[in-house]
Amino acid sequence: MSTETQYKRFLKKAYKNLPKQVLTSERFEVPAPKSEMVGNRTFLYNFKEICDRIRRDQSNVLKFLFKELGTSGVIDGDYAVFKGQFNHEAIKTLLDGFISREVLCPVCNKPDTKVVREGRISFLVCEACGAKSSIRK
Ligand SMILES: [Zn+2]
Repeated sequence: MSTETQYKRFLKKAYKNLPKQVLTSERFEVPAPKSEMVGNRTFLYNFKEICDRIRRDQSNVLKFLFKELGTSGVIDGDYAVFKGQFNHEAIKTLLDGFISREVLCPVCNKPDTKVVREGRISFLVCEACGAKSSIRK
């Protein structure tokens, strides 16, 4: 038996033993922030990539980060540039918080959501399960 056939057999067997849920829900992975402190600024090199992945406007995500970091800055192409020095962990923690609060559906935990504003209140509407949840601020 060729190695390839053996591998295929192995896969087939492995798939058979997986719970169905695993097969249907694709894992949601957000790229880890690539940041660097340069002088008195912090560059987040893959800012656009992260925003694209979580399907949120760069300006919204940036506004959130500015508020949490207590700073300002600019978008420069695919980068975000912050005034001040912020380590990788701080940025990652904030982004993780943003994603769990404003991207993942609290009902089914899927990222297929959009933010809908009604007056002064924002809701997270899930395209996967149809849940509408208020966003905790
Ligand atoms: Zn949902």
